[in-house]
Amino acid sequence: MNEYDSNRIADLLQSIDLKRVDDEQLADYFIFNTCHIREKATQKVYSDIGKIKKIFRDKRSKPTFILAGCVAQAESSVVFEKSDFVDIVVGPQAYHKLPGIIQEHNQNREKICNTDLDVSEKFDTLNSYKNNFSKVSSFVTIQEGCDKFCKFCVVPYTRGPEFSRSADTIIKEVQNLVDYGTREVVLLGQNVSAYQHEDFNLAKLIKQIATIAKLERIRFTTSHPNDFDEELINIFKSEPKLMPQLHLPVQSGSNKILELMNRKHTREFYLDLISKFKSARSDIEFSSDFIVGYPGETEEDFEQTISLVEEVQFSNSYSFIYSQRPGTPAVDLDQISKPVAQKRLEKLQQVLFDLQLKSNASKINQKTKVLIENMTSTANQFFGRNEYMQPVFINANNCIIGNVIDVSIHSYKRNNLFGTII
Ligand code: SAH
Ligand code: SF4
Repeated sequence: MNEYDSNRIADLLQSIDLKRVDDEQLADYFIFNTCHIREKATQKVYSDIGKIKKIFRDKRSKPTFILAGCVAQAESSVVFEKSDFVDIVVGPQAYHKLPGIIQEHNQNREKICNTDLDVSEKFDTLNSYKNNFSKVSSFVTIQEGCDKFCKFCVVPYTRGPEFSRSADTIIKEVQNLVDYGTREVVLLGQNVSAYQHEDFNLAKLIKQIATIAKLERIRFTTSHPNDFDEELINIFKSEPKLMPQLHLPVQSGSNKILELMNRKHTREFYLDLISKFKSARSDIEFSSDFIVGYPGETEEDFEQTISLVEEVQFSNSYSFIYSQRPGTPAVDLDQISKPVAQKRLEKLQQVLFDLQLKSNASKINQKTKVLIENMTSTANQFFGRNEYMQPVFINANNCIIGNVIDVSIHSYKRNNLFGTII
């Protein structure tokens, strides 16, 4: 979502004649769009600000430095105490105000902090600016925020309560992207499966978007298991443009830990949901997010996570050691020791990587449909993604960017498949 937001910031700033430059030495303005989900990402922000500060130490004119995103939201004006290099702090629901904020700063050079949670106003503003980042596969935010309050997570505090954009404005944005070359759209939200605007839920929105003629593929991320009803499960059966891959974070395979996390679903509920998706579409594959070393996690709880992974056979996943986030309910709980958590993460990742390799191996000599995104820097090689969003490298003299072609896979690495045109 930060990638989408960054591109929208670039769209907005064209209105005050600012444009992107590739060379940081040439920049008069810097904007860091930041993530607060884990501590590592947050720490990196300040060391990266230090690097920019160094570049400009010997120059007379200091660039204007803007800290945007969820670190800005969480730390607010404290950012100015931590780094005097920062001029403007703007949260993820206030960045639409940047053109005015920058002009104000240029006039009086005073520091400005805006962390309003005006998500509806933000989209009202963004809707009148063209989304200029039409790629073969483009992101479109349809929903933001979260009302679920898992005990480890900062999202409800940094992105604010759940908000869904109107179907009408989303469809216009997708249509515009398609007119400029998009063939796949990835619908984004922190809880995209909770999308609801007037009569439109996510299933109805997908059906409507699928009527856009030149759009070939639809995906959505990230979902919460509790949001799926029959209609949203069956859309995988009835809508061929919806790709058979679902990212469905589970976090843990232990009911005790799920309860401590306030996930409000059980292991059994999750496994039952997986089998419902498989009944709707037998070739569907799943990916997930896992947190290891959550306070209270015993070796037995962890083994429950491993057994869930083996039962579902995820084809690709993200896993993290629990990270204490300020302001969340879990922050004060007794922590699992770092070496124990690290050992568990390594074990889980080994199991996940083996499953990924197994899934890749099953695609050898199989036909897969690849949406071509670009040429690579290697001669006669093109890049695209198959139905499961796996990167595929294809040897070919010529491919049309934006076309879906049949490819036979001949080899693989953990993250990539290699094939030839059939
Ligand atoms: N809404 C989605 C997840 C959004 S956050 C869901 O409910 O599943 C993206 C991922 O970051 C989460 O799935 C979780 O695995 C990870 N995450 C969030 N907070 C974390 C924390 N405090 N420590 C470690 N990982 C965390
Ligand atoms: Fe965070 Fe997802 Fe839980 Fe919301 S549902 S609090 S975004 S992990």
